Amino acid sequence: MNKEKIHKLSLRTYKNILNFIKQYYEDYKIKNLFITWSGGEPLIDFNKIIKLSEEVIGFCHKNNIKFEANIITNAVLLNKEVIKSLQKISVSNIQISIEPTEVLDSINRPIKNTNKSNFNNTYENIKDVVGLIPIVLRIALSKKNFTKIVSFVEKLKSDNLFFNKVNFALGPLHIPYLNSNLDYSILNDVFDSSEYAKAYFDIYEELLKKNIIYLTPYPSLDNECGAYKNNVFTIDSKGYIFKCFENVFDKSESIGNIKNKKIKLTYKHTNWIKKDFDFEKLECYHCKLLPICKGGCNMVRRFKKETNIGNFLELGCNEWKYEYERGLKLYYQSLKANEKN
Ligand code: SF4
Repeated sequence: MNKEKIHKLSLRTYKNILNFIKQYYEDYKIKNLFITWSGGEPLIDFNKIIKLSEEVIGFCHKNNIKFEANIITNAVLLNKEVIKSLQKISVSNIQISIEPTEVLDSINRPIKNTNKSNFNNTYENIKDVVGLIPIVLRIALSKKNFTKIVSFVEKLKSDNLFFNKVNFALGPLHIPYLNSNLDYSILNDVFDSSEYAKAYFDIYEELLKKNIIYLTPYPSLDNECGAYKNNVFTIDSKGYIFKCFENVFDKSESIGNIKNKKIKLTYKHTNWIKKDFDFEKLECYHCKLLPICKGGCNMVRRFKKETNIGNFLELGCNEWKYEYERGLKLYYQSLKANEKN
């Protein structure tokens, strides 16, 4: 599938999504339904999202299902009116993918078929809607951008965005796994797990020292990737179902199609739920980080293993594995500093 093509939700897929949800409720009597709208750029097809959400919300209301949603967007089409409409369809928070500078944005996230950046547009739109809804700015940390993060967060704070319902989240730059169009030069920018961990805690340490943040991260026990969970599915615009959203460009990784209404427990599907890809990765069973990390990211590990790039046993490991003591000390320091203030 060509990643460059825009695939909008067809009427057939629209109806199939509704039928799939209804059937899933019949089969499993779910009490909660959470939808993440993502793309490409989901706001391009906003009217369809609203209409579909209204129908889903009506169904949830009738059947006592708690409904909530969020959206991942580049924020180029975001404004106050859009926020109001999003809140009406139960979108409770927004995730915006962003680079820390305009130059990096033009390199890593250029406007289609150009080398121009959306950075200023995105940033102004965030300023316009600040305080109306919680926003998380998601930055994919790479060897190209890690030195720019602290000044970016400083800018957020001086523009009164940071702490005003706008926060930032760091994650590793993902390798677009199984994408046949993969530009392998991207691998030069990707941190190995231990390098990523160092850069991650360096940034938090500096932010704390400069009094830009007041609390540093603490390891959480509930951050397992949704792809391993039984009731989490990614559905593409043609109705194909995937477990990991990194796979949506490869139909061979699909576990079914919603036109069949029911999820079949195929080998491929159960592999995800049982997390069975890496039985050779026994080190997880002896790793003290297992309860926090829950085995890391299988897609990263599969990529490394199948392409023979890097140490696949190490890849996908959680940042706490390498900087556990330092991370806890930083957190303790930040708590102490808070006590004093
Ligand atoms: S940190 Fe690495 S070795 Fe430890 S549980 Fe996570 S993936 Fe497994």
